[in-house]
Amino acid sequence: MTDAVLAIHGGAGAMARAHATAEMRETYEAALARTLRDAGRLLEQGASALDAVTEAVRLLEECPLFNAGHGAVFTSVGTHELDASIMDGRTLNAGAVANLRTVRNPVLAARAVMERSQHVLFVAEGAEAFAREQGLECVAPSFFSTPLRREQLERVRQADAQHTALDHDAGSACAAPLSFARAPQGGAPLDEDRKLGTVGAVALDAHGNLAAATSTGGMTNKQPGRVGDTPIIGAGCYADNRTCAISTTGSGEMFIRMVVAHDIAARMEYAGASLEEASHYVVHEKLPRIDGRGGLVAVDAHGNITMPFNTEGMYRGFIRTGQPPVVAIYR
Ligand code: ASP
Repeated sequence: MTDAVLAIHGGAGAMARAHATAEMRETYEAALARTLRDAGRLLEQGASALDAVTEAVRLLEECPLFNAGHGAVFTSVGTHELDASIMDGRTLNAGAVANLRTVRNPVLAARAVMERSQHVLFVAEGAEAFAREQGLECVAPSFFSTPLRREQLERVRQADAQHTALDHDAGSACAAPLSFARAPQGGAPLDEDRKLGTVGAVALDAHGNLAAATSTGGMTNKQPGRVGDTPIIGAGCYADNRTCAISTTGSGEMFIRMVVAHDIAARMEYAGASLEEASHYVVHEKLPRIDGRGGLVAVDAHGNITMPFNTEGMYRGFIRTGQPPVVAIYR
């Protein structure tokens, strides 16, 4: 029997330290600790790593503080499009969904794809229809909206409008889409209003099995139809009993281009790197080469945990069986 462990994140690019009041920090830390205790209890009772990460992510989706499920960010047209994924390190089975609009808990849809379909990834209407057929709870799209996220959208829209105006001032003959055409892959630089609040969990259970799950509303003001790294197996989520389980958060386009989660597992498997070495290299050396911002939580087959990030903060924490949860936001 192995000592079970669960690690979670509530997104990188946390609120700027300078603006975070003690009360705000405590609210986030309490939500992380509650999630760790509740989902960690399952592991303590002998549940699988798969069940623990599913429950941890479902709880975070229900919490309006984080950008997943209720509290998800808005697209540029004021809608929500939710993505999620899950992977079982024992079997290498995986499931994912993208562009969901009404499924209350996207992580449950990802799990249903993994366990009750022959496929790995469903998107948009097909994903919605599959989730409904599976009896998953659907809600009105407004269920996901919160006043805070709407304010963020308004602020980002204003900033983008100025950016477009600057392009036009520069004397371009091209009309509206110019800023899009010129944008680097990954879009505008990360600022406080584009906060990354994706949620994720990784676990090692008492039987030595690993699992990972990730869920997000994506990035504020994203174009409809955009899919980030979260539902891409190997980018936003990966688990293999032989190496590690990983859940990422950050500028999704860069995480896709660097195939972040699988790259860490591959460094361990092919180059003999430790979890710590492989994760540190990818987050602090590789991602910055393409201005990739964010972080990840990871656990290896021995129960080692690492939670590196290259942003100002990342909501994160872990719990080991029989011990109290440990949570943090900044370095
Ligand atoms: N990685 C997510 C995405 O690009 C955003 C996040 O981590 O908050 O959709």
